[in-house]
Amino acid sequence: MKHNGKKIVIVGGGIAGLCAAVYALKCGYEVEVLEMHDMAGGLAMSWRRGSYTFETCLHWLIGSKTGGEFNQVWKELIDIDKLRFVNFHEFVRIETENGDNLRMYTNADMLEAELLRRAPDDIVAIQGFIHAIRTLGKFKLLDPSGGLADNWLNILRDIPVMPLLNKLSKMNGEEYGSHFQDPLLRGFFSNGDVGKLTAIAMVLSLAWMNEENAGYCLGGSQALIRLIQEKIVDLGGRIRFNAKVERIVVERDTAVGVELAGGEAIRADWVVSAADGHATIFDMLGGRYVNDTIRKIYGDCQTFASYLQVSLGIAMDLSDLPPMLTRVLNTPIQVDPETDLRHIGFRFFHFDPTFAPPGKTAVTTVLPTRNYRYWERLRREDPAAYYAEKKRVADAVIGVLEQRIPGVCSAVEVTDVSTPATVIRYTGNWKGSQEGWLMPAGASFKPFPNTLPGLSRFFLIGQWIMPGGGLPSGPMTARPAIKAICKQDHIPFDLRPEVHSQEAIGV
Ligand SMILES: Cc1cc2nc3c(=O)[nH]c(=O)nc-3n(C[C@H](O)[C@H](O)[C@H](O)COP(=O)(O)OP(=O)(O)OC[C@H]3O[C@@H](n4cnc5c(N)ncnc54)[C@H](O)[C@@H]3O)c2cc1C
Repeated sequence: MKHNGKKIVIVGGGIAGLCAAVYALKCGYEVEVLEMHDMAGGLAMSWRRGSYTFETCLHWLIGSKTGGEFNQVWKELIDIDKLRFVNFHEFVRIETENGDNLRMYTNADMLEAELLRRAPDDIVAIQGFIHAIRTLGKFKLLDPSGGLADNWLNILRDIPVMPLLNKLSKMNGEEYGSHFQDPLLRGFFSNGDVGKLTAIAMVLSLAWMNEENAGYCLGGSQALIRLIQEKIVDLGGRIRFNAKVERIVVERDTAVGVELAGGEAIRADWVVSAADGHATIFDMLGGRYVNDTIRKIYGDCQTFASYLQVSLGIAMDLSDLPPMLTRVLNTPIQVDPETDLRHIGFRFFHFDPTFAPPGKTAVTTVLPTRNYRYWERLRREDPAAYYAEKKRVADAVIGVLEQRIPGVCSAVEVTDVSTPATVIRYTGNWKGSQEGWLMPAGASFKPFPNTLPGLSRFFLIGQWIMPGGGLPSGPMTARPAIKAICKQDHIPFDLRPEVHSQEAIGV
């Protein structure tokens, strides 16, 4: 592709930074992505230990179905049909230690039958819930980079679902769950950060699963990341690893490039930061470009919790278990001095043959905590205690699993524990947040501002400007930023490669 003579530097090679690179390259920009880690993906990550691969991110990818909602957005970037998706039959099974269980199916008809069988007294709430799943399956996302002219058809299509959407948006998961008498069903909506999120988040995810448009791709989130990386290389872009940006270089209130740790300076016509929002605004830019809106966001809004991840390589075929299993414990696990957990969610990756040898299973559990400071301090000041604490938590998790699968303890051949200190070290995310900002009840779907007051030729993208986060926040924030850059440079935002090559040869 012929280049339009302008260069964009992108800070961070997570999904948002990579998507921005593809959009910019397609519009003819020279692109350099600077990633501090030695591989791309950020939170969309997995790692290999022995013969096992442990995934941290991907549960579901919105837009996985050909022709489904958001699928076209992925198609603009990559040939998503190259990925192989699995749609789970059972989303999650919730079990108590006393033998009670609730199966949350992805198919709305099966889910309705299961819930009515289990909790007939909740008939009104169950019917409302199933109606919401079926109705929201028709919901069309608006293009945040488009105006009325681009979105009018989807706005018209969304009119019938608006009353339901408004009703759900006013409640958080906990309030929504309180409509049910059944304790496991109630717990499904109110456990952890799900209880603090707008109820829309969970209902919409289930709606997309019912449409088979929120599948898991084999190879996990790195399979998606690799595909985007390949596209960047095909289009002539450059990704530099082990390249930590220390400072965004500003001259006369204009971003003109970046300075790397070690002092190397890189000049550019535009700087786009796809790294953690707090570090970008308050460290890389020294807090010079803030106003009351930004102070209020970073002062008042709540982030998703951070987490420990205990990953186990188990020499057992566990394919009789559901992909996700939540155990409700009689005695909570202590994760750290401020965090006790009564619910432990396991993921059994038996559906992904790329993650373990035949007959063996990669198993993970994510243990949310907001006490990131404890884990950072322990790692920094007392490494021996840090490793001892990681082992203590892993042993407790294996104990919970042993109670469910007798004999599993002796089949564990790999144990790996990451903590909030790991998340911060590898991704730089503020407070080790797993998804940026929580989207509470009553919040609007509008992203946070993607520019900073008084600073030109600079954009912010990624999960820190799209409350709720998730992989779709990558393209949803990258697209408007690159479109705005094109507009200011008087370059058409046209993603068909032939348009730019024809312009370059003067057609
Ligand atoms: C446990 C878990 C489960 C999840 N499940 C799902 C799911 O099922 N579906 C879904 O859609 N989403 C899921 N998510 C959320 C999703 O992974 C994130 O919202 C998304 O990956 C965020 O992408 P990002 O590019 O905005 O940020 P990041 O992934 O954080 O990328 C930022 C990048 O910037 C780099 N960086 C930071 N500072 C610098 C610097 N100074 N210089 C250079 N580089 C820098 C980082 O190394 C990183 O690579 C999950 C996340 C977690 C943790």
